Amino acid sequence: MKHTIAIIGSGIIGMWTAYQAQRQGHHVILIEAGSAGGEQAASFGNAAWIFEGSVLPISTPGLWREIPSYLIDPLGPFSIKLEYLLKLAPWLVQFVRAGNSIEKIETCALARIALLKDSLFHYRELARDLGLDRFVRQDGLVFVYPNRADFENESLGTRLRQAHGLHWEEWDQAELHANEPELGHDYTFGTFHPYGGHLTDPGRFIALAVQAMINRGTTFVSAEATGFAVEQQRLRGVHTTHGTIACDRAIICTGIHGKALAHQTGDHIPLESERGYHLVLNDLERMGRSPLMPSDGKMGITMTDTGLRIAGQVELAGLSEPPDWRRTDILREYLGRLLPRTKDYLGKTTRWMGHRPSTPDGLPCLGPTTQCKDIFHGYGHGHSGIGMAPGSARLLVSLATGQATPFNAAPYRAERFK
Ligand SMILES: Cc1cc2nc3c(=O)[nH]c(=O)nc-3n(C[C@H](O)[C@H](O)[C@H](O)COP(=O)(O)OP(=O)(O)OC[C@H]3O[C@@H](n4cnc5c(N)ncnc54)[C@H](O)[C@@H]3O)c2cc1C
Repeated sequence: MKHTIAIIGSGIIGMWTAYQAQRQGHHVILIEAGSAGGEQAASFGNAAWIFEGSVLPISTPGLWREIPSYLIDPLGPFSIKLEYLLKLAPWLVQFVRAGNSIEKIETCALARIALLKDSLFHYRELARDLGLDRFVRQDGLVFVYPNRADFENESLGTRLRQAHGLHWEEWDQAELHANEPELGHDYTFGTFHPYGGHLTDPGRFIALAVQAMINRGTTFVSAEATGFAVEQQRLRGVHTTHGTIACDRAIICTGIHGKALAHQTGDHIPLESERGYHLVLNDLERMGRSPLMPSDGKMGITMTDTGLRIAGQVELAGLSEPPDWRRTDILREYLGRLLPRTKDYLGKTTRWMGHRPSTPDGLPCLGPTTQCKDIFHGYGHGHSGIGMAPGSARLLVSLATGQATPFNAAPYRAERFK
């Protein structure tokens, strides 16, 4: 049976979900309040990594011990704004609890892996189909460490990646600097993940993919979705700022704004913004072979079409607080240590702040809403939405159209928060 599926939001998750639904012959209506892949979306400014190895959630055992330091140091790589603590408290408690045992982390990692599996392969397929091959690269990904002991301290992630068949090369100081000659000498150990890829410009990739889908029959509506027309528990349409759009299925792919729309359906999803920043050195000539991540800063450094991008930082301060641009100064400082030649760069830079849509348990919310089985949650991908988008889209479209799911859908259901 063919459906009319309204997909609300055209960040990476909405774009992928629309692609999957269109490929299966459904009529797709994309409703977007901003522009597809535009600056308002988290999908615009991320580090652009497609990394199947993102198996670990952010909350891991012992994290609670670090919380006082997150409050004291407002400019650390993970910080909580003191004034926001009261509002954040319920989410924070769930966040700490979700990572307080190895068993919970292992269960969560399994569910993350199901979404991440073969992600780069699927990106290449979509890119080939839509004529966007040049945006998807497989240059591998490199993690760099001050020394080998720092790598060994991350044994939980290493063990989980190994258990799931992911392999990487380990580079000593000489190999690391031979492969990445621009790298600063503070780093003496590295791991190279050849299965990793990246997008050369995530925002433009999404915008062009959406345009290609419009050319194939997807309807694009420039409007903000405000609610749902439901009669006798069946969906009749999506209310928007430009009227009600008739459809028989709706998937909420609005990133951090998922919480507000979910509320309209009677579901209360604990979703918080883990605010992140990027800085781009726009006129820098190409540097480095692969994207890099330093273990001490946890930021992604990626050569993009618009320049060298450094993206990272986690700031829990809510949606309305203005950006704290001192964070991009921190990114710049790290960049100088990692790639010392960038210290002399005096050219144009651009900066950005965006909202990672994060649930407390490291898994997105994917599946039917409680009150109407025609409306679906499709958000909450936190730090890994680029990587998890193809898997999430396959799951969401199979659920929305009543097909067998490609893997167990239970871990992502909204009911887990009740
Ligand atoms: C600094 C940083 C670095 C990151 N690095 C990586 C990385 O390297 N790899 C990775 O996998 N992930 C990374 N992420 C995470 C990733 O960017 C997010 O998980 C992902 O972009 C979320 O995508 P989304 O489509 O759910 O949300 P968004 O991209 O935010 O898209 C939501 C869309 O919905 C629209 N919308 C909202 N409300 C409405 C409404 N009511 N009606 C209509 N439209 C609406 C918005 O305008 C927007 O276009 C990073 C994030 C940050 C901030």
